[in-house]
Amino acid sequence: MDKLIYFDNAATTPVRKEVLDTILPYFSEHYGNASSVYSIARESKKAIDKAREQVANALGAEPAEIFFTAGGSESDNWALKGIAESMSSKGKHIITSVIEHHAILHTCEYLESKGFEVTYLPVDEYGKVRIEDLKAAIRPDTILISIMFANNEIGTIEPIAEIGKIAKENGIYFHTDAVQAVGHVKIDVKEMNIDMLSLSGHKLGAPKGIGALYIRKGVKLKSFIHGGAQERGRRAGTENVPGIVGLGKAIEIAVNEMDEVTPKLIKMRDKLITELTSKISHTKLNGHPVDRLPGNVNLSFEFIEGESMLLFLDMNGICASSGSACTSGSLDPSHVLLSIGLPHEKAHGSLRLTLGHMNTEEEVDYIIEKLPPIVQRLRDMSPLYEEYIKNNK
Ligand SMILES: *Cc1c(COP(=O)(O)O)cnc(C)c1O
Repeated sequence: MDKLIYFDNAATTPVRKEVLDTILPYFSEHYGNASSVYSIARESKKAIDKAREQVANALGAEPAEIFFTAGGSESDNWALKGIAESMSSKGKHIITSVIEHHAILHTCEYLESKGFEVTYLPVDEYGKVRIEDLKAAIRPDTILISIMFANNEIGTIEPIAEIGKIAKENGIYFHTDAVQAVGHVKIDVKEMNIDMLSLSGHKLGAPKGIGALYIRKGVKLKSFIHGGAQERGRRAGTENVPGIVGLGKAIEIAVNEMDEVTPKLIKMRDKLITELTSKISHTKLNGHPVDRLPGNVNLSFEFIEGESMLLFLDMNGICASSGSACTSGSLDPSHVLLSIGLPHEKAHGSLRLTLGHMNTEEEVDYIIEKLPPIVQRLRDMSPLYEEYIKNNK
C-alpha cells in the first residue's frame, strides 16, 4: 500500500472535507468580529449561534449551556479550577481517577499545591472506576467529582450515568472529560446528570485549538479568561469563528452518522483484536472487552518495546501510538497501563491503534499482515525473549 494508513485518531483527526468547506469563508469574506454591529459582523454572530446549537443538540443540552474554549485542556482546567474557586467555602475535596488525561491530573496536582485535597480513585483491571470506591470516597467537604467519559489510551468507557446519579444524590458537582467520547458514543447530559463536560474539536474532525465546555444552567463556575464580554462574560476573547463553525459542523456530522459508522468501527476493531491476538503469541488486550470506544484497540506484546514497533510500522506507512517510554518524553510507561495492573515490561510493549470513519477493511487487513512479522523480528532481537525461550525449552 503506498498511501499513508492513519490509525491514530485518538491523537488527532484530519479536518473533514465538509468541515473545511464550511469554515473557509469565515477566514475570508465573513471575517467580521461577532461583537460589532454591521452586517458582516452579524454573519459571524449568526454562525456562532448556529454552532452553539449544533453542539448543544449533540449533548442534549441548551445552547446557553455551551461555552467555546481553545480545546479540551482549557475546558478541563476551567471546570476544575473554576469549581475549586467558587466552592472552596463549602470544602476543598475533589474526587477524580488515576487514569485521567494529564489535563485533569496536572490540574489536580496544581490544586493540591493550593491547599485542595484530591482522591484519585483506582480502577479495575479493565480500567473502570468502581462505584463502591466512589461512594466510599465521598465526604461532607467534597465539592467535585471529575471522571473521564472514555479513556484515551485503552478506550474503556466509564459508568458515567451511575456516577452522575451518585453525584446528584450527594449534592456534588460532576464534571466529565468527554474528549474521546463525543461524536463516538451517545451522550445525554441531562439523563446522565452531568454538570460539566469537556470536548475538543480536533478529536472529531474539526480544527485544533477549539473546544467547548458544557456548563449546566445553575452551576456556579467562575469565569476563566477575564476580558471582554464574549461567551456571556465567562470566557473572554474574540471568538475563533472558523474554529467554532467547524466544531459545530463536525459534531453534527459525527452524531448524525454515528448509527451508521459505529457498527463498522466495531467490526474493524474486533477483527484487529481477534486476528492480532491469535496470530501473535503472548499478547493481551488492554481495556474493557465490551465497554470500550468503537475505534480503540490497545494490545500489549510481551518481550518488546512499543517504540520500536512504531518505527517499523512507520516504515510500512502505518501511523500508530504506544504507551511506552520515549513518546511521552519520560522513562515511565503510561500511567493508565500501570494503573490497570500491567507490569512495566508489558506496559512498554503496548500498541494503540485508533480507528476513524476514514479507515477501511483493506487497511485493517494490511496491518494484520504487517504486524506479526514485525513483532517476531523484534522478539528475535530481544534478550527477554531469548531468556524466555531458553527457560521454556
Ligand atoms: C486530547 C485530549 C485532551 C486534550 O484536548 P486538547 O484539545 O488537545 O487540549 C483532554 N482529554 C482527553 C481525554 C484527550 O484525549
